[in-house]
Amino acid sequence: MEVNCQGCAGCCLDWRPLLEADEEPKGRHHARSAPDDGDAEREQAFSERVPLGGSYNFVALTRDEIRSFLERGSAAVLTPRFWTVEDEREGVEVGDRRVAAVAGRPVFFVGLRKPPKPVAPFGREEATWLPTCVFLDPTTLQCRIHGSDRFPDECGTYPEQTIALDAETECERVEARFGGERLLERDHDDPDGLLFGPQALGAKLFCHPRPDELEGMFDRLERGEPSSADRAECIAVAAASSPGTVAVSEPHYERALERLEGDEPDAGDAWIRPAIDDWCRRRDRTRANEAVPDPELAAVIEDRRGAPETPGWE
Ligand code: SF4
Repeated sequence: MEVNCQGCAGCCLDWRPLLEADEEPKGRHHARSAPDDGDAEREQAFSERVPLGGSYNFVALTRDEIRSFLERGSAAVLTPRFWTVEDEREGVEVGDRRVAAVAGRPVFFVGLRKPPKPVAPFGREEATWLPTCVFLDPTTLQCRIHGSDRFPDECGTYPEQTIALDAETECERVEARFGGERLLERDHDDPDGLLFGPQALGAKLFCHPRPDELEGMFDRLERGEPSSADRAECIAVAAASSPGTVAVSEPHYERALERLEGDEPDAGDAWIRPAIDDWCRRRDRTRANEAVPDPELAAVIEDRRGAPETPGWE
């Protein structure tokens, strides 16, 4: 498999707001021309379900990856995603919602947050505020943790796993909308070993043991405003889960909550939380008619605070 990622980052941000501003390109059609569902192919295993929380192209992490962020005091990068369902056999009632569940327990992913950042992907001259992975450098459009021990499995196997499952990739959606050649070769590994199905339980798909306590959280997730406590609760349950089961270890759960309360980041990660807060503040203060800042503002918001550099494209 070979991809051309320079100037793209289509799988690391939510570019759908650009579609509202741009005219539909003429003469190009695609079997599935717009990412009109909740979360494109990363939702394919849950295609009948409507995401609750998280963001487009949600990068779901494994339990061990979540633990690693937790141990480094970097849980600020994490947020949960649940799903609402129509079919009563698939879900459990929580307040006036039915959410996807296994054995009566609401199921969820934990993945990376996408704060708003000014980015200009696909050769655009003007930047736009778009939900962008916490680890994407808006200037180079490269990943700040690529090649590190924290680079998520899901990012490392993208778009290979999607091709293996014979689904449309984000690369192809970007090509269809903005032109260019992104997916240069379609060779892929066998989909065996992907964390879908029962083996995902407790390893990537987690079960919350106390559905009755989640109604308020679901309201906040629906508004896109999960609180720190909501995120901490889900991270602690995920960190205390056991692969292949719905079980949650109470001592591990308590320990994770304690770690989250302390939540002092390792020195190398101290930039993350202030950068997220700063981006969110600046986006909130930007009025509709105000110019979007240049992506190079990242030098102040992220680099100067200690964010890892990206190698550039040369
Ligand atoms: S971790 Fe890196 S590769 Fe994965 S979505 Fe974020 S910026 Fe993109």
